[in-house]
Amino acid sequence: MSLEGAYDPVNIFAKIIQGKMPCAKVYEDEDVLSFMDAFPQSRGHTLVIPKTPVRNLLDVDAEMLQMLIERTQMIAKGVQRAFLPEGIILTQFNGAVAGQTVFHLHFHIIPAYADTELSGHGGTKMADMEQLQRHAAIVAAALDL
Ligand code: AMP
Repeated sequence: MSLEGAYDPVNIFAKIIQGKMPCAKVYEDEDVLSFMDAFPQSRGHTLVIPKTPVRNLLDVDAEMLQMLIERTQMIAKGVQRAFLPEGIILTQFNGAVAGQTVFHLHFHIIPAYADTELSGHGGTKMADMEQLQRHAAIVAAALDL
């Protein structure tokens, strides 16, 4: 099942998984990769993706989805410890009409701060890679592995 066609094997997240594109890595295991969003909606905006080639929620099998959401919770706890936001938003978009821009399944972990408004989804202001690397290291150090 798929919204809007087949999986594109050269999408940007596929390239990140293959090591052909850089990322500010937070966590990696056999099945999952997590890294900082390059256009963060807030400080600490982190993505969690499966390594399997699936476009969206409708394509993923239940076992992989369960593993993915468990890892997402584990990483969200790390984000919470690292940045101490007052809230955390979890988002996941399916199909361009719904706002999806990268067609490889992913969860967004978006810290929400009482004193800071969120930037919009799909922003155009790319974060500084060195700062993203620092943020990734802070979250990685806060993970309960
Ligand atoms: P979505 O719009 O839900 O498909 O989310 C895609 C997310 O990927 C957006 O929040 C983008 O900011 C983010 N993004 C796009 N390219 C990169 C990249 N090279 N590294 C990290 N995040 C990216």
